[in-house]
Amino acid sequence: MAQNFPVLIDAQGPRRGSRAHRLASAAPADVRLRNRTAIMRALYPNNSHSRAELAKLTGMSKVSTSDVVADLIEDGLLVEGAYRTPHGPGKPSQLLQFNVSAGNVVSIDLSDVTRIRGVVVDLAGKVMHRVEIELSHAKCLDATEVTKLCQRLVDMCEEKVIGIAIATPGTVNDDGLILEAPNLGWVDMDFVERLRGVADCPVVVTNDADAAVFAEDYFGDGFSDMILVQIADGVGAGLLIDNNVVRGKGFTAGEIGHVVMSDGTRPCVCGKIGCLETIVSAPILDKAIEEHPDDSERIIARAGKELGRALAMPVALTNITHVVFSGVPRLVNQTMVDAAQSTIDLLTRSRFLDAVQVQISTIGEDAAMLGAAGMVLRRVLAVM
Ligand SMILES: [Zn+2]
Repeated sequence: MAQNFPVLIDAQGPRRGSRAHRLASAAPADVRLRNRTAIMRALYPNNSHSRAELAKLTGMSKVSTSDVVADLIEDGLLVEGAYRTPHGPGKPSQLLQFNVSAGNVVSIDLSDVTRIRGVVVDLAGKVMHRVEIELSHAKCLDATEVTKLCQRLVDMCEEKVIGIAIATPGTVNDDGLILEAPNLGWVDMDFVERLRGVADCPVVVTNDADAAVFAEDYFGDGFSDMILVQIADGVGAGLLIDNNVVRGKGFTAGEIGHVVMSDGTRPCVCGKIGCLETIVSAPILDKAIEEHPDDSERIIARAGKELGRALAMPVALTNITHVVFSGVPRLVNQTMVDAAQSTIDLLTRSRFLDAVQVQISTIGEDAAMLGAAGMVLRRVLAVM
């Protein structure tokens, strides 16, 4: 059965007078709100603790802990589980767990112009349902296709939908407005508005590479300082410094795909000639391999080398520890990684700079969708 619980921070603003509104109106310093968050974080996603342990872990008094736990149980966000028998004398204590089934998040990835992919996940980011729609190659993606898929996924949810996430290529501002997405043919596309009628929940729209780097941090290997490069129809990067996604003043941090490379010759969708994505994007590499099937290793190695050349400067500039490549396995493979690694090593080698580790995303193709869903979980429940 669908649970009802308050939304902490609502993109559109919860209804006035509602419980959600009272909570959302609370200043960040509000002790009760912070206590709820501290308890949820201690249990999220799969930890079990008694009330006494939670009090110790969070530094809260036993009375406050019991109060907050009672609230969270009432909201459906915590469940009581087994009893733990004490080693010495005393009563057995009941263990509490975060209820990952208390809600669903719908998340959609628009980074591939040949198909739109969507998932329903639980509150731990586990995929419960998956839908994929093939698209005909077109210069522009019809936004109603996205709305229809979103509605379909919302209808599949068994639990209350706590948020909808869209991971899109292009530039997205803090309000979720897609300022520009050249690969989709969009300018000022507003899904927060378009999806208002689909479900009564916050809509989070985010750049796909930013979402993917967030997913790597929280659901993947958890490197705190990395560049994640997505090799899809376009080429974009997400930058994580000290666990924070760097978005930039104009929200375009990581747009390395439209930097002109010295040996680039092809015209780009952005109007320039020889951008990185005219050399290493998935369609360009697929076409080259189709024309020269015996040369696929060399084509992929050359792409890795170009990526290494493009990344050497940001690697040295930021002193990040990891470069993570994400994309389809037929292209984003060990050959590409090895070529990029040796190029970056060659170009940045210095006794002042530790070697950076290049590797393939451990999350794979779902990274952008899971990361966007994670951003919903962070915004609504503050568990991340
Ligand atoms: Zn370009």
